[in-house]
Amino acid sequence: MVGRKGEKPKSHPQISEVILIGKQALFPINWLNKQGYCEYQIFLENMKRIKAEPTKEMIEGKLEHRRLELEFREKAIPATFAEMMEQSKTRNVLSREFPVRSLRYGIFGLIDEIHLSPNEIVIIDDKPGTKKYLSNIHQVYGYCLAFKDIIKQKNHRQIFAALRERGTNNIFWKTPFNKSMESEIIGVVDHIHRLILGGEKFDSCKNSNKCRACRFKMDCNRAVS
Ligand code: SF4
Repeated sequence: MVGRKGEKPKSHPQISEVILIGKQALFPINWLNKQGYCEYQIFLENMKRIKAEPTKEMIEGKLEHRRLELEFREKAIPATFAEMMEQSKTRNVLSREFPVRSLRYGIFGLIDEIHLSPNEIVIIDDKPGTKKYLSNIHQVYGYCLAFKDIIKQKNHRQIFAALRERGTNNIFWKTPFNKSMESEIIGVVDHIHRLILGGEKFDSCKNSNKCRACRFKMDCNRAVS
């Protein structure tokens, strides 16, 4: 770890969305989703800085996040992180749009929702539909990894990763975030850091269905049809 806690983040000079704390690069956790779909998207968007229109799902997702956030704020009682952790040892606590940043793993992001109870902590990511794609699973594992790093050994509760159908209460996938999932996601996080550092080359998907649905297809020299 080369960044110090409390140090002010700066934008990476060449790569959009990446921040630097000291010499440590941190990338957004939603890159784990993009990496699972096609990591060449990350290259086109953040290194070549190609602009592409947001998809219908992205626009709908943003609107739904906003709606839920406003609804939540109307009823929410402000609490510090320490208070939230303490209160949840004896009762159920819900938090939304929870910011996480892990210097140790070089990742940051906003968790859609966290349900904390005396027995468990459930990290929830909202997705359109109910298909459990590996890319979505990797994204929510990334949030679990960062959250676990923040609470460190102060927590003895089991952390769960969960996917919920956007706009509903339907949690269609939930699993304990165990050691093997932790190792799996650390492997992907490390791979993305090697891509950022230039130690590995960006791969691209070979799936024409993905390319057809990709918002970068018009500017991609690797698109397959
Ligand atoms: S068009 Fe295909 S290869 Fe190119 S970024 Fe999109 S998904 Fe990847």
